[in-house]
Amino acid sequence: MRAHAMPQRWNRDTSWPRTGPVSCKIGYYRALSTDDGCSKCPPHSYSVSEGSTSCACDKGFFRAETDPASMPCTQPPSAPQNLISNVNETSVNLEWTAPVSSGGRSDLTYNVVCKRCGPGPSSAAGLAPGAPRTCQPCGNAVHYSPQQLSLRSTRVSITDLQAHTNYTFEIWAVNGVSTQSPGPQQAVSVTVTTNQAAPSPVTSIQAKDITRHAVSLAWQQPERPNGVILEYEVKYYEKDQNERSYRIMKTASRSADIKGLNPLTIYVFHVRARTAAGYGDFSAPFEFMTNSVPSPIIGDGANSTVLLVSVIGSVILLLIFIAVFVISRRRSKYSKAKQDSDEEKHLHPGVRIYVDPFTYEDPNQAVREFAKEIDASCIKIEKVIGIGEFGEVCSGRLKMPGKREICVAIKTLKAGYTDKQRRDFLSEASIMGQFDHPNIIRLEGVVTKCKPVMIITEYMENGSLDAFLRKNDGRFTVIQLVGILRGIASGMKYLSDMSYVHRDLAARNILVNSNLVCKVSDFGMSRVLEEDPEAAYTTRGGKIPIRWTAPEAITYRKFTSASDVWSYGIVMWEVMSYGERPYWDMSNQDVIKAIEEGYRLPPPMDCPVSLHQLMLDCWQKERAERPKFSQIVNMLDKLIRNPSSLKRTGGETNRPNTALLEPSSPEFSATLGSVADWLAAINMERYRDNFTAAGYTTPEAVVHLTQEDMARIGISSAAHQDKILTSAQGMLSQMQQIQDRMVPV
Ligand code: AMP
Repeated sequence: MRAHAMPQRWNRDTSWPRTGPVSCKIGYYRALSTDDGCSKCPPHSYSVSEGSTSCACDKGFFRAETDPASMPCTQPPSAPQNLISNVNETSVNLEWTAPVSSGGRSDLTYNVVCKRCGPGPSSAAGLAPGAPRTCQPCGNAVHYSPQQLSLRSTRVSITDLQAHTNYTFEIWAVNGVSTQSPGPQQAVSVTVTTNQAAPSPVTSIQAKDITRHAVSLAWQQPERPNGVILEYEVKYYEKDQNERSYRIMKTASRSADIKGLNPLTIYVFHVRARTAAGYGDFSAPFEFMTNSVPSPIIGDGANSTVLLVSVIGSVILLLIFIAVFVISRRRSKYSKAKQDSDEEKHLHPGVRIYVDPFTYEDPNQAVREFAKEIDASCIKIEKVIGIGEFGEVCSGRLKMPGKREICVAIKTLKAGYTDKQRRDFLSEASIMGQFDHPNIIRLEGVVTKCKPVMIITEYMENGSLDAFLRKNDGRFTVIQLVGILRGIASGMKYLSDMSYVHRDLAARNILVNSNLVCKVSDFGMSRVLEEDPEAAYTTRGGKIPIRWTAPEAITYRKFTSASDVWSYGIVMWEVMSYGERPYWDMSNQDVIKAIEEGYRLPPPMDCPVSLHQLMLDCWQKERAERPKFSQIVNMLDKLIRNPSSLKRTGGETNRPNTALLEPSSPEFSATLGSVADWLAAINMERYRDNFTAAGYTTPEAVVHLTQEDMARIGISSAAHQDKILTSAQGMLSQMQQIQDRMVPV
């Protein structure tokens, strides 16, 4: 409804000469400065008397001082919408969307108001109405990027806030008439709590000692530790090598002896500190060169003159290198050489160590560090190929500028996710992004700047290995199957070299491409607990895929590369049985019990003895006795090079072995127990008396049983004959394997 303000009244006799133009009608105006005719009052304005020289604004509408009379009257904007905050240590990024109404003007800008607040409700969703909270302006110490006032963009970064402090931010939408209106609410607000800041970077590194194979480094605590420093991480690599093949050493002190280096080689070192808030940034690079002085010749009767000459020669050489180096490397420091040829035990030369993204206070930082941000416009989603824990998995194409188009898999994060879900979802990318191996699924990048949030990986045409094997039952040669196993072992060797423990290695988590290359996948941090449908709750409350997991991991959550080796043995069994379910339809409890009692899976049909033996080795109860992945790769390589070693199978039978084998240790015979125990284990104890009466009283005697023998001793059911025969043959194969193992290679 239009409410009339007090109209301007003109005295026609005095203000408007009778000889001048005709005065304007009501609802029209003629500006004093023009000779033009009358104009209709612009929208949201009016005139209530004839001869008006301007129109007054409707109630709630305004005109800025600089607005021409011909411009419609306007309003202040409504409040900005969808304010999102993202806390990163002591910085906050705010983003919002434009107000529904700009008030009819085009001079919309935003002002940020920052208030530091005392303790209040812990909810970060916004201020609870009426909640008691004392707030004060943030002051000048806080910085805004691009600026605090008259912002044209809908985002702002606020830095240099105090750690562990509540802040309320208001975003005000403002235009040219905002000052004239007490108006409706024009601001949105959000309350956040800042985190502890990570330590500032280490600013200087000194080399205290440099030898042929070692550099002793020392550094000062960062200027702003922002907490107790828990450890330092030294990253280093040969200057001439690709930075990606760096090595990491961790130390609790402010020094480190980096050993196992090559002589006369320039190394680049970076150091960063870690507190409970996570890692700070790495220091700038510091370069030092190892020297050429050889190790001392001690106690071998060497002539002291030769020793002296060689030391003097080396010192001269060293001085030359120092001179060259000091000139070219301003920041490097040298000290006198000290002989040291010890190899560093805990280093994995040339291999990086996996960094757990959850050691970062802000997991987004890990995503930024390990995953490339991809512009969503480079991705074409084509079809849905699966469902993951966090949303659909699609296939599509990725075309990065200057690169050829490739097929990709696209994992999406479904709408309505929580912060934790987003973090967990992206943790997979932070992990995958650290790996670079032909048998590990390759991360192309992530989309985090727009929705849906996506993880882009290489596309594996044949999907997951378990389904692929079931679809192709019996179609591959043994060599092809061993090739598959070799690939998986090689990927796992890489992961274990990087100190990454997978915890959920299973055929369902291996992907196969069109060339039958298998790649290890599924690296999300929560997946073992949450996503895997095979995971079951243990008595300790954890959720674990029982059939694939080593006993020590089930019982006391001891997950190591050795427990991954156990799972690898199960994957071997899945592969050789074309996707059969390990332990068939046994319950999880029965599986745990059987394993504890020493039973193991028998060889799948037509499985070479040597492969089943390798499985049994992977299932050693003592984890130290299991082979390492490097040994598994070597073993499979040997088998591939010598295919005749794959010829002998345990039971030349067309029936699959479906009974568990007795213990796989060399103490097999001793622990096997009686025939009665064996019959009980395979649920055939009803025939105990038949066996005893016929004189089959030892395991060695029953392993040679034939069908005729069984009919003779009174076992007439074909199904029971089958079951007993299969199990007996399995036992025989295991005995042979034990004998094989005793033969020196
Ligand atoms: P995940 O969430 O990783 O378990 O993925 C769910 C399903 O999507 C898998 O079981 C696969 O069938 C499919 N999938 C995931 N990643 C890929 C990929 N890189 N290539 C092809 N299929 C994939």
